[in-house]
Amino acid sequence: MDLFEYQAKGLFASYGVPIQQGKVATTPDEARAITAEFIAAGKPGVVIKAQVKVGGRGKAGGVKLATDPDEARAKAEKILGMDIKGHTVHSVLVAEDISIAEEYYLSFLVDRADRTFLSMCSVEGGVEIEEVARTKPEALARVPVNPLAGVDAAKAAGIVAAGRLPERARAGATALAERLWAVFTGEDATLVEVNPLVLTTDGRVLALDAKVTLDDNAAFRHDFGRFADPGSTDPIEARAKERHLNYVKLDGQVGIVGNGAGLVMSTLDVVAYAGEAFGGIRPANFLDIGGGASAEVMADGLEIVLSDPSVRSVLVNVFGGITSCDAVANGIVSAIGMLGARGDEVNHPIVVRLDGNNAAEGRRILDEAKIAVVEQVGTMDDAARRAAELASAAVTGA
Ligand code: GDP
Ligand code: MN
Repeated sequence: MDLFEYQAKGLFASYGVPIQQGKVATTPDEARAITAEFIAAGKPGVVIKAQVKVGGRGKAGGVKLATDPDEARAKAEKILGMDIKGHTVHSVLVAEDISIAEEYYLSFLVDRADRTFLSMCSVEGGVEIEEVARTKPEALARVPVNPLAGVDAAKAAGIVAAGRLPERARAGATALAERLWAVFTGEDATLVEVNPLVLTTDGRVLALDAKVTLDDNAAFRHDFGRFADPGSTDPIEARAKERHLNYVKLDGQVGIVGNGAGLVMSTLDVVAYAGEAFGGIRPANFLDIGGGASAEVMADGLEIVLSDPSVRSVLVNVFGGITSCDAVANGIVSAIGMLGARGDEVNHPIVVRLDGNNAAEGRRILDEAKIAVVEQVGTMDDAARRAAELASAAVTGA
């Protein structure tokens, strides 16, 4: 999970990595008010920075200086709503303007190729580090970090020296690197990058920019939820994730529920193939209910798939294994009952194909339940064709 600069700087501050003061604004008026506060507190001006999870904001016009509240308001108005490499700017960071003497580069990351941690440091900062690596590889130090030894003051000093930072910045950069390592390990990050790391004209060293990628595999021991970005994630995908279901949005008309990734993938293919005969009907999404198919999981799965407005029919394709087909059938029956009871009446046709462990009993249960929207089909190919046909009929209103 990538963080916004302001979120990354929030983490930096909590670990004692020096940053400039700043606040987030989502409207030009807020940016104006924050600027007025800084000016009243004696700051010479502010920098207004687009908050998007992509680099190169400076070059794209997403970083602007202002020396009074009205100018800040006007510049924030320009930046908010701007598109930077496909990312819309919904907020800006308004921070005290820092008088920069020099710009450097510092990062810690997981080096997968060498199966270790790596620090990169360079006196050439502020520009894209890939460019430094290409044009002046000798100016970019790559220092492996032993995960057991970590980064103490001596190691940090070594990194900063390898990056050829000048003597006047060494003490500040060393202290900062040690704190940055604490962020990296303490938050289970896979990347913390400071570009530029700056030496100010009054001799301080601080992180002017901040990029942090957190390891989602470590989410269980952190509160990463606080960094969620509800505006940018598909609400249905977010709901599926909350319930630990694997849901992916596609752009067709048939919702697909299956158990196991392999079966779900082949169901997608079969539906897309069958759909060709019906004017190009395709899968609208897919959801893998995994090994268990309890009524609750099935209800959640069906609800999620059906809440996609482009769905016209649903194909439930289950091969009974450890979870036998009678359990799955009972799951479907109670799922539809549960959905009705909570006001989510199912009004799209659901084609069900059950096979495998205890299939005959599963089919009997579904038949006996006599649910109007449910139709059983014996084979996967026929079920796919029927689901495509029903979706096509719904699309054309036939
Ligand atoms: P990026 O372009 O997305 O990497 O955004 P940065 O935060 O790195 O900003 C780009 C450039 O804007 C920096 O390299 C600085 O030269 C400049 N900049 C950023 N913040 C300030 C600031 O507070 N004062 C001044 N004078 N320049 C800044
Ligand atoms: Mn930067």
